[in-house]
Amino acid sequence: MVEVNVNGRCYRVPERPTVVICFDGCDPAYIERGIADGILPTIASFQRRGFYAIAEAVVPSFTNPNNASIVTGAPPAVHGISGNYYLDRASGEERMITDGALMRCGTILAALADAGVKTAAVTAKDKLRLMLAHGLKGISFSSEHADRASLERNGIGDVEAMVGRVKPDQYSSDLSLYVLDAGLALLRRRAASLLYLSLSDFIQHAHAPGTAEANSFNHAVDARIARLMAAGALVGVVADHGMQDKSCANGEPNVLYLEEALARRFGEGAVRVICPITDPFVRHHGALGSFVRVYLRRARDLAALMDASRALRGVEEVLDGPTAARCFELPPDVEGDFVVLGDAATVIGSSPGEHDLTGLAGHRLRSHGGLGEQKVPFMVSRALSAEWVNGRAGRRLRNFDIFDAVLNGAVA
Ligand SMILES: [Zn+2]
Repeated sequence: MVEVNVNGRCYRVPERPTVVICFDGCDPAYIERGIADGILPTIASFQRRGFYAIAEAVVPSFTNPNNASIVTGAPPAVHGISGNYYLDRASGEERMITDGALMRCGTILAALADAGVKTAAVTAKDKLRLMLAHGLKGISFSSEHADRASLERNGIGDVEAMVGRVKPDQYSSDLSLYVLDAGLALLRRRAASLLYLSLSDFIQHAHAPGTAEANSFNHAVDARIARLMAAGALVGVVADHGMQDKSCANGEPNVLYLEEALARRFGEGAVRVICPITDPFVRHHGALGSFVRVYLRRARDLAALMDASRALRGVEEVLDGPTAARCFELPPDVEGDFVVLGDAATVIGSSPGEHDLTGLAGHRLRSHGGLGEQKVPFMVSRALSAEWVNGRAGRRLRNFDIFDAVLNGAVA
């Protein structure tokens, strides 16, 4: 049996087509409700004939750190990605993560491609693709830029012809379904036999479990999982993070503006608050999540700032940078002076002027980032061996164990 070693873990080279799906923002509540409503027959079959468990995501429970963990099988302390947006301490600049330049280790995808496995990474958004395709000698493209895919840049051209339709609007649920349809097309034409398909959480940010929109989308995903299995694939499904309602009773977003609150108490320019959820697609969440990093500016008393933050309504946890890095396995060199986590019902922003909430018109704010969104579904279309399950006894199941599960644990 051929194996590759990636970041201290061994992975068997797959002998059958294998697909891992990152079901972005799929809180376990969507699965529970969907199974109860009878709209997830394929996933329901995993509970009977495959594997279904609840795993823990990386905190901050954001898209980039978790996708990077899933493809590396390692926590952010190893791969270096702890947000979508960060403050560069060296230059003092605030920057978006837009490619794989900050990835500090190799990926399971790149290692298996190097071992001769035809590998593909397909994402909804292109900036995530650039990060995940770090070092990958294979196919990688996004729904967002499906029309621009070329053999030189993406390892494949004519994606729209392959999928059979033009790329969807970037603010649509079809952006995710297109990823799955593209994966199926790659599988059917044997262009790839190991696929990582990463969706977008557009629907989950706006629609609660059990709503017509959520049920319709989740049903469409479930039907595509069935098609991937019918095409001969072993399928593993995991989420990057959960999603919860973060609105007040009157429907307004439940926001704590932390930079503003600390400025009121300690003076203008006391601190800089960085919201690592910030990305180019903020229309559906206004760059508001439940985890922020705080950097001292004019104020110098760390303990007083942390105590004041802890006393604010909606704050669940306040940790100094080194403690946060240790607790959540984050890279300490890029951590804030301290971090603040909102509770399950609260998002934390900087100051009102920095968050455009006009895109939320018509729906309650749902978001993620904190401890409340750490629980995610972890599902495999086949049962996992007793050896694999017992070998993990006493350890927390993490969403970034999914490649280990499908490659090393799934029974034939
Ligand atoms: Zn996400």
